[in-house]
Amino acid sequence: MTDLNGGKGTTQHTESTLEELRQQVDQLNNQLVELLSRRGELVAQIGRLKSSEGGTKFYDPKREEDQLRLVRQANKGPFTDAAVSAIFKEIFKASLDLEETREQRKLLVSRKKHPEDTVLTIGDVRIGGPEAPVLIAGPCAIESEKQMDSAAQLVAELGGKILRGGAYKPRTSPYGFQGMGVEGLKLGRQVADRYGLQFMTEVMDTRDVEVVSEYADILQIGARNMHNFSLLREVGAVRKPALLKRGLSATMEEWLYAAEYILSGGNEDVIMCERGIRTFEKWTRNTLDLSAVALVKQESHLPVVVDVTHAAGRRDLLLPLAKAALAVGADGIHVEVHPQPATAMSDNEQQLDFAEFREFVTGLNL
Ligand code: PEP
Ligand code: MN
Repeated sequence: MTDLNGGKGTTQHTESTLEELRQQVDQLNNQLVELLSRRGELVAQIGRLKSSEGGTKFYDPKREEDQLRLVRQANKGPFTDAAVSAIFKEIFKASLDLEETREQRKLLVSRKKHPEDTVLTIGDVRIGGPEAPVLIAGPCAIESEKQMDSAAQLVAELGGKILRGGAYKPRTSPYGFQGMGVEGLKLGRQVADRYGLQFMTEVMDTRDVEVVSEYADILQIGARNMHNFSLLREVGAVRKPALLKRGLSATMEEWLYAAEYILSGGNEDVIMCERGIRTFEKWTRNTLDLSAVALVKQESHLPVVVDVTHAAGRRDLLLPLAKAALAVGADGIHVEVHPQPATAMSDNEQQLDFAEFREFVTGLNL
């Protein structure tokens, strides 16, 4: 065997040198890790100082640039300046993550802040934690007294607790039915009271938060408005429970931060609602993300419900999806039901008729 010096008989000696060199590298690695830990502690101290002064921004590009300049000046090789800069950029990124993780620990929506499940009490309804899953049902849009009355009667008969119905409708086309407005709110309120139900309806505009709060028991924030930070702040300022739908393409983190907007305004009664996200799939209107239900329940103490109607966009999937949602720990199921879905003013592809709704609720066996 030939060693690196091309000689024979020195193999033993070279291997032990290699071993020694490796040991030195290991020792240096240990020292580097120790130095990194010390650096991490210092960065954390800086973060705490910044936080105590009210700062929430930890990323400081100018400071990073200054550090990189000093590091490059100190670099004596053999690594190139570019290689050393790349290594330090990774260190900066890890340090920033450290700070952001500390921030996240402080989020009001997080279990790290609030380890026990939040249980909301809305009239005589309790939702979250050990409570039995709640059924939220009703027509997509409030269209008439007769329509709402018949739907509410059936929802109550089948054990539903919360009546839904939109008075302000977010429609893809500006020419589509936009909802009955305040007249719809009044109808929803009256009919819910008639059958001992809580009334949930969507608020789309900051200017309507006050009037919707006057009539509704729960303010629904629709998927399209999950990123409407002014609306989130406005809903954070009222003392009415809010149901926050996940945005069409919102990550779990964005969804939780949206809830944080409401909680940080002082409104702690938030229900998270997964309603499917947009994917490349065409056979369903959206893709129900059950991982988000399981994961958001782990990360957050807030109740999570699943809207099967908007997730699937087709009736045949509602029952299996609802069963699956309960299996992953959903605190409630949201579904739309209409006396004549075929002629409904919105979502007529996916609302259940009364017979189908009865079958759905029986099959779900809440
Ligand atoms: C609705 O609940 O009627 C609705 C419009 O839902 P989403 O915001 O989830 O689309
Ligand atoms: Mn709908």
